[in-house]
Amino acid sequence: MSLSKVKHIVLVLSGKGGVGKSSVTTQLALSLSLAGHSVGVLDVDLTGPSIPRMFGIEEAKVTQAPGGWLPITVHEADASAGIGSLRVMSLGFLLPRRGDAVVWRGPKKTAMVRQFLSDVFWDELDYLLIDTPPGTSDEHISLAETLLQKARPDQLAGAVVVTTPQAVATADVRKELNFCTKTGIRVLGVIENMSGFVCPNCSECTNIFMSGGGEVMAKDFNVRFLGRIPIDPQFLVLIETGRSPRYPEGTSVNGQDISSAADAHTDSNETRDSALLVQKYKSCSLAPIFSAISATVVADAAAAT
Ligand code: ADP
Repeated sequence: MSLSKVKHIVLVLSGKGGVGKSSVTTQLALSLSLAGHSVGVLDVDLTGPSIPRMFGIEEAKVTQAPGGWLPITVHEADASAGIGSLRVMSLGFLLPRRGDAVVWRGPKKTAMVRQFLSDVFWDELDYLLIDTPPGTSDEHISLAETLLQKARPDQLAGAVVVTTPQAVATADVRKELNFCTKTGIRVLGVIENMSGFVCPNCSECTNIFMSGGGEVMAKDFNVRFLGRIPIDPQFLVLIETGRSPRYPEGTSVNGQDISSAADAHTDSNETRDSALLVQKYKSCSLAPIFSAISATVVADAAAAT
């Protein structure tokens, strides 16, 4: 059974597509790894698996072993740097054309989700993050059923629900929270993504949409509010080009001066750009925010066991 060596399983859910669910999964994985945990990411988003692109491993080939697949290694553990290993398995690796959405019928999707949960050879993992399709579709129900059957109760830490300031106004995210209640999956908390904007030119973080709705909704549902993530174009640059984030002097996000964090690297840009994604991510404005969120998730997961 592929989940037997996994300590904690965390689902990442969103009411609709495009709110940043995969970006949140990616950053949770990077910050957990930076905190020294071994991490696996399982991408079962059949609507258009974007996890391989996020980690820059679109061309990777998965190896089939007897009885299952071997996940792709993004980086190995580095004990001297305090970094845990990071491995990824995505449905995207199995599609003939990368980036395609799966057009299978319901039963085939359900069977695939089940197979994905049981047939990937995860080694010892502190955290397995599961990136799910948006909404509360058949795949979710099947995923929830399979997890509740196959994972031990102490393994299933719960779900992180991602929303945006605009999405809060819609019923989608409420449906997601109701889905968790109905299926008996604990909600670890709500993240409000795209809440404000880190301007690349003027060192200001501006609220372009009204933010704060996620927090109000979390209160309504009596679940934890994990935090607000601004839109940071430098995160996009990091993912799309692999270039390390850079900020003008005095840039501050959530009260933290992050330009100095970038300046703390004394090596040349070239060296930084050839560094591991996890190393480059450390200088992203969003890294301290995710570090705090993942610390909360870790504490909560430990309390659940
Ligand atoms: P979903 O998984 O919900 O469909 P994605 O994570 O793929 O959404 O995000 C959609 C796009 O928005 C991606 O290109 C992603 O890199 C970008 N994005 C998401 N959140 C942020 C953010 N906080 N700052 C900058 N870009 C972001």
